[in-house]
Amino acid sequence: MSRLLTNVAEMIPRMQERAGALDRDSAFPTLEIDQLRRAGALSSPLPVSGSGNVDELAQLLILTGQGNLSVGRILEAHINARHLMARYDAAAIRDDDRLYALWVTDPPSNGLTMRRFGNRIALSGGKQFCSGAGHATGALVTAQDEHGNTRMLVLPLGIGEHVTQLPSPLQGMRAAVTGAVDFTGCETSTDAILGDPGDYLREPDFSGGAWRGSAVALGGLIALIEHAVAQLRQSGRLDSPHTQSRLGQAIIARETGRLWVHHAARIAEDNSEDAGHRVATVGLARIAVEAACLDAMRLIQRSLGLSAFRQGNPIELICRDLSTYLRQPAPDEVLTEAATWFADHPEPTL
Ligand SMILES: Cc1cc2nc3c(=O)[nH]c(=O)nc-3n(C[C@H](O)[C@H](O)[C@H](O)COP(=O)(O)OP(=O)(O)OC[C@H]3O[C@@H](n4cnc5c(N)ncnc54)[C@H](O)[C@@H]3O)c2cc1C
Repeated sequence: MSRLLTNVAEMIPRMQERAGALDRDSAFPTLEIDQLRRAGALSSPLPVSGSGNVDELAQLLILTGQGNLSVGRILEAHINARHLMARYDAAAIRDDDRLYALWVTDPPSNGLTMRRFGNRIALSGGKQFCSGAGHATGALVTAQDEHGNTRMLVLPLGIGEHVTQLPSPLQGMRAAVTGAVDFTGCETSTDAILGDPGDYLREPDFSGGAWRGSAVALGGLIALIEHAVAQLRQSGRLDSPHTQSRLGQAIIARETGRLWVHHAARIAEDNSEDAGHRVATVGLARIAVEAACLDAMRLIQRSLGLSAFRQGNPIELICRDLSTYLRQPAPDEVLTEAATWFADHPEPTL
């Protein structure tokens, strides 16, 4: 195991210990992010290439999710933002200490727009579901330009943006501090523009990066099973064949998720693979990990009964965080498009 992974693995018990208080207070995990920064997790070289480096990035995200899903989400967004910067402008990936957010979801009205004047850009409107709002120090955002094109901007934060809570807070992932950010009245330089019109939606990067969220979710599933085994053992219920059978099914789900995450990561980050194949593989992996997590939560809640729903039990928090985090965009479309792609491109037989 690399030094980075060893350091992050050592952080897990403390991350798990602090997760309950951070959730209760909807508090940003400053300590955890500082520790990840010191370990080098925020500055890993991107985009990754070579199966060893890809596996290491996958394992970094899994371990972080195992410690605290909200911390994993913040790290995932930072890596996604830096991946896009590196992908579309190597010079944009600065060796700075910033924690980057990736804010691309527009509210139903008054989404983010940009207007150029000289070498300046005036921003108006905002973004919703912004993880790390008020805490991230840089953000990659999408904004609609004067011609109706979607552009990417890399913004320093603290330029006068206005952060508010969501009108109704999320049930889980509270320590990811997901809010709304209004940039109306903010200005930036045209140097903030990343890539060309339409680059944000360009495949395979647009959909292919979703494997990183699945890796974090898998970390949550690993922690969930660990806690479940400990609690079942302590209550003397691990000897029941019913409990053992449910645990076996949950472990199958976890290992299925693990296989999918590593497989999808390697395909997604391999530039020699066909773009459609990369996107479809990540799509199937996303749905497979979602199903694995949902199945395991049902099985573990059934085995533990009401204690799995008691506040203060880490299992209650992981299930609440996972249930929320798994709600990623357009799952039906992702599955049907992947199915169509594989129907048209059957795997070659050896
Ligand atoms: C913890 C957390 C943190 C987040 N942080 C960020 C962030 O930092 N930045 C950011 O930009 N976003 C963030 N998001 C938002 C995220 O990017 C998505 O916008 C959000 O997760 C979409 O979830 P949804 O269930 O509403 O998706 P939807 O796509 O609305 O899916 C809900 C259901 O509707 C179905 N559906 C979708 N479209 C249609 C249609 N046209 N017709 C019929 N059915 C349809 C889907 O298949 C699914 O069954 C975050 C989300 C979470 C959970």
